[in-house]
Amino acid sequence: MAPHAHVRRIAMVVGLALLLPIGVAQAAAPSGTPGARGIGDPYYADYGNGGYDVDHYGIHVAYVPKTDRLRGTTKIRAHATKNLSRFNLDFVLPVKSVRVNDRRASFTQGRHELVVTPKKAVAKGQQMVVDVTYAGVPSTIKSDGVQPWIRTDDGAAAVGEPEIAAWWYPANDHPRDKATYDVSVKVAKGLEALGNGVLVSKRVAHGTTTWHWREAKPMAPYLAFFVVGQFGIDRSRVDGLPVITAVASHGGNEGRYAAADLRKTPQVIRFEANHFGPYPFDAMGGVAPAADFGFALENQTRPVYTRGFWRDGPNIYVVVHELAHQWYGDSVSVQNWRDIWLNEGFASFAEWLWSEKHDEGTAKQLFQQTWDSYPRGNGFWKVKIGNPGAHNEFNGAVYDRGAMTLQALRTRIGDDAFFTVLRTWAADHRYGNGSIPEFIDLAQTVSGEDLASFFEVWLYTSRRPAATEANGFPADFDPKVVGRESIPQSWAKIQRTNELLAQAERR
Ligand SMILES: [Zn+2]
Repeated sequence: MAPHAHVRRIAMVVGLALLLPIGVAQAAAPSGTPGARGIGDPYYADYGNGGYDVDHYGIHVAYVPKTDRLRGTTKIRAHATKNLSRFNLDFVLPVKSVRVNDRRASFTQGRHELVVTPKKAVAKGQQMVVDVTYAGVPSTIKSDGVQPWIRTDDGAAAVGEPEIAAWWYPANDHPRDKATYDVSVKVAKGLEALGNGVLVSKRVAHGTTTWHWREAKPMAPYLAFFVVGQFGIDRSRVDGLPVITAVASHGGNEGRYAAADLRKTPQVIRFEANHFGPYPFDAMGGVAPAADFGFALENQTRPVYTRGFWRDGPNIYVVVHELAHQWYGDSVSVQNWRDIWLNEGFASFAEWLWSEKHDEGTAKQLFQQTWDSYPRGNGFWKVKIGNPGAHNEFNGAVYDRGAMTLQALRTRIGDDAFFTVLRTWAADHRYGNGSIPEFIDLAQTVSGEDLASFFEVWLYTSRRPAATEANGFPADFDPKVVGRESIPQSWAKIQRTNELLAQAERR
């Protein structure tokens, strides 16, 4: 923890006139030192925490749509990575009690941080079980100007990136600390509750239904979700895996289009597995709630989609995008949020591959079309997509210039080396994290080429790349030709999809 961060945290606690002087906590646990208030992400000082690593979350919540009231208990199984006198969780709902290893612990709550002081310091390597009990109204709580909680026509959606966990369960909220999950959601009978992974059980008692979902593969905290509402649910088994798709019961035409496209989930996953390697998870599906929240999110095993994607009819491209994230984003997560191109560039490029395969325009044509759409000097080219800046990760350029970068790499090193790079990346970092420099190293190793200036131009330069073969432009590329008479058939849908996806974070 940097000294200035320490000072700032204390100042914040004092400023909010919150409980417990720091000195008291330290006196109670002389053998350890406090865990950092952040995991060390250069963009967000308070995302994640230091001093421990979570193995499993056991989350029980009860949710009432009418009042937006959420009650919960979360049992966190973690282990200390140093001798720990005190540690933080990212959480914004009012906490009632905290226990560590079955003993009552003291705690304070700041704007974004729940600070827990166990009775006894936790020794390095030792397991700690943390029980947190809480209740609140998520939609009323803002943290640093952010309020990601979504109320729908008939329920709610705990879906957001990079932040949502803190509004429904206490977490070490950073993709670097993945864990497995059991999530139980209790709702009034007649409502459905969807979540990640496998549906373990559905228990009806005293006018309520409790839906128990399990994600047995490591998952980043922001990818855990639940959605409550009234849904038509489709269940099947494909290639040995359970498929669950859910579309809002009163979704109208948009709902009908969404249902038809979500039913193609297994087919899209098969297509992507052909290019990216084996599907990494134990279940698949998708959820389209009754709400216009303006984006979709690649929730692990079961992405969640706003109905607006289907306003103009069928749209398989958004499904292709979110499912590609199962490899690039979910199984392989960013090391830091500045690595976001590894998620959004790749998922957008998957849309181009789908278009190419289905004769709606080749990736080469879509590359040309994107070039034509953003003339030199356009703000699009100003974004350094390899390090776009905090709160700018979901700029449209990260998606579209991001896809161009991969198509340029494909042209530069050839299909064989290119798809080997994509598959090796997914295999080497499966269930873990990866950074852009590591990806560049891999591309150079597989291709045997020096790609330093290629990636510098595409990822780290705030100018339009020169149309040279070294930069991965095809030999017959004519930068002056505007191919208006041959716009790829998929272009409008891909544009609309990526615009909606990119908008999400500008709320
Ligand atoms: Zn995306």
